[in-house]
Amino acid sequence: MKSLKERGAIFSGLGVKAIIHGMGTTTRYGGTMMHPEVVQSMVEASQCLVDMDELNHKAGEVVARATGAEAGMVCAGSAAGLLLQAAACMTGTDPAKIFRLPDTTGMKNEIIIHKAHRFHYDQAYRAAGAKLVEVGNPKVTQPWMLEEDITEKTAAIAYIIGPWFANEGTMMFGSYPALPLPQVLEIARRHGVPVIVDAASTLPPADNLQKFTRQGADMVIYSGGKGLRGPQSTGVLCGKKHLIEAALANASPNFAIGRGAKVCKEEIIGLLTALELYLKRDHEADMRNWRAQAQLIVDAVAEVRGIRAVVEQHDVNRGVPEAVLYFGKDWKGPSGMEVVAALREGDPPVYISQGGYSDEIWINPHNFVEGDAKLVAERLRAALLRKG
Ligand SMILES: *Cc1c(COP(=O)(O)O)cnc(C)c1O
Repeated sequence: MKSLKERGAIFSGLGVKAIIHGMGTTTRYGGTMMHPEVVQSMVEASQCLVDMDELNHKAGEVVARATGAEAGMVCAGSAAGLLLQAAACMTGTDPAKIFRLPDTTGMKNEIIIHKAHRFHYDQAYRAAGAKLVEVGNPKVTQPWMLEEDITEKTAAIAYIIGPWFANEGTMMFGSYPALPLPQVLEIARRHGVPVIVDAASTLPPADNLQKFTRQGADMVIYSGGKGLRGPQSTGVLCGKKHLIEAALANASPNFAIGRGAKVCKEEIIGLLTALELYLKRDHEADMRNWRAQAQLIVDAVAEVRGIRAVVEQHDVNRGVPEAVLYFGKDWKGPSGMEVVAALREGDPPVYISQGGYSDEIWINPHNFVEGDAKLVAERLRAALLRKG
């Protein structure tokens, strides 16, 4: 592989620096790198024009097969997927309602969401005109609380799955902030209300691509530019046939709320290629590879006194093994924040994360190419020891 300088030339021409991205698939730093096959398929898709309705439907069939859902479509990232989920559940395929959004007067327009699941992306539901109704409190939610909140105004129940959310029955402080998804699905089914799932960042592990649909979720979204390594501006939306039809009706090329979240034909083809590659991948080998890179970083700082470095792999929702550095009480060197800043200011800039309950740093090798882990390990060691 070419050096980062060479690969980044098109950006440095603009005065933008190429970076080493050790923060997982964070959108702000470019998400992920597409596979060359993905880019190649996009170039091919750019050579002619097609009927977009036809492409949307045929692409949806591929998404459906990959996810095990009845139907699917390619959307413009998970945030657009949330918007379309909300719109679909409120309007169905009624053209009058679709044209009226985000004005939802007279429609079923409430989306129930666990208080513990409120997050920075839920504006996407509101952008469609939905009104959020919170269930439970940050510490505990009981089944009867959800039952009580379901009314004739309920359009859907939203459920967020990710490393930062209490879900799948995660117990915190001796209680359950959110009901487990299967329980939500059971309650929703009894009331005839769809459950819309945000699983944007749950790949890897690969089996999450089918898991929530198999459990009975009505619609599920995944980001195309995170674990799947497709175009960053894409997402996978899958679910029940009538709801996907409604989502497509609310999306481009129609004059609808989703028109502003258009996906072009090159991106659709790119995402399908990424999806195909993902299904064929040796995920065990990826895991071993990431673990080895995280271990290399841990080993490089193992001797630094006052720092406890370990490889950690969080639960199912944060599948990539990471190098985590905990700053001990006896640590006298620079703070985690200072170390992170030092790495960003170096050449090339290295982006890693700081945070957690105490001072800690974590490095996610998801985006590393050959040589990156070694470079990051050296830079980290130097920053901790304040050399270079
Ligand atoms: C990343 C993320 C999104 C937004 O995804 P995009 O594809 O960037 O639009 C939404 N929800 C969750 C939980 C995410 O992690």
